[in-house]
Amino acid sequence: MTGKFCKRLAAVAAVFLVLLLAGCGVEIKVSSPLTEGKAEGNLKVHFIDVGQGDSTLIEQNGHFMLIDAGERDQGEGVVSYLKKQGVKKLDYVVGTHPHSDHIGGLAEVLRAFDVGRVIMPAKEHTTKTYENLLDEIAGQNLKITLPKVGNTYELGDSSFQIIAPVRDYGDNLNNWSVGIRLTYGENRFVFCGDAEKEAEEDMISNGLDLKADVLKVSHHGSSTSSSGRFVDLVDPDYGIISCGKNNDYGHPHKEIRAMLKERNIKSFRTDELGTIVAVSDGKTVTFPGQDPGGVTEKEGKPEAQEYVINTNTGKFHFPDCKSAASMKKENKKTYAGAREDMIKMGYEPCQICNP
Ligand SMILES: [Zn+2]
Ligand SMILES: [Zn+2]
Repeated sequence: MTGKFCKRLAAVAAVFLVLLLAGCGVEIKVSSPLTEGKAEGNLKVHFIDVGQGDSTLIEQNGHFMLIDAGERDQGEGVVSYLKKQGVKKLDYVVGTHPHSDHIGGLAEVLRAFDVGRVIMPAKEHTTKTYENLLDEIAGQNLKITLPKVGNTYELGDSSFQIIAPVRDYGDNLNNWSVGIRLTYGENRFVFCGDAEKEAEEDMISNGLDLKADVLKVSHHGSSTSSSGRFVDLVDPDYGIISCGKNNDYGHPHKEIRAMLKERNIKSFRTDELGTIVAVSDGKTVTFPGQDPGGVTEKEGKPEAQEYVINTNTGKFHFPDCKSAASMKKENKKTYAGAREDMIKMGYEPCQICNP
């Protein structure tokens, strides 16, 4: 036997081993669209429930970006959520502005994952939480990239543009928020941290395109943000509000809820729904497992079933399927949703347990 042939045999054996490990003896697919180099076709935006605060994970074709990580005590939860999504490396970490409900958990995140680029505004703060984050960044020899309006970065097959902060906002930390407009195919998402009306005015005057399908409603739905003019320019179909249950600030403020309703913008709230996941196939944005009618009517929400996904094969199983039990830990991901949503996201039902 030639050495080359030996290698081939070994490769074939490895394929069989993978099949065995994957369980579900009938599987013939070795690789799935999820693991191939080519675009899997979906962008996922996870608005992670961190109580009163913000944390958004963006995922495209194996590339990840995290915007904020909630308060310090949320860091651990964010890290474990990211691990469940298969994050090993974060291409970008954005700390929108130095308030603790945004950057508090970031030090923990930096400790847990490889990080490409850290983007934070040129505004310092004197809190321990902020200094602790700077120490972590310095300790890891990471450099801070200052957000420059108009700069564009790639994330897998998606890209994002910096739209804020436009200028120096002195001591108004919220207005220093890094603003991001994410593009995937024909879909757009806008995230502006806690940017208030003054910063929104500057984004408008700046003339950059702000139009988006989904707007993360700034400052947890506070009436200090989301001027009608700004929201009209973004003109979203969906508004996501990240806030804590019965928070001390009364977020989201009723003016903002009314404003969204008036404009027929469907809103989703993390205090009511927990973590919210938006999925874009480049043409349409869907919210698998969520009632597209909005958050106020909780009845009628499709019942979520827990599934176990094998990220290696792209199949999903009932949790009690024997192949779910024998699945390699690093390929295993659990997800609660409706069956059709799993399929929409590109997964295939296991042919044994037939979920
Ligand atoms: Zn905030
Ligand atoms: Zn803030």
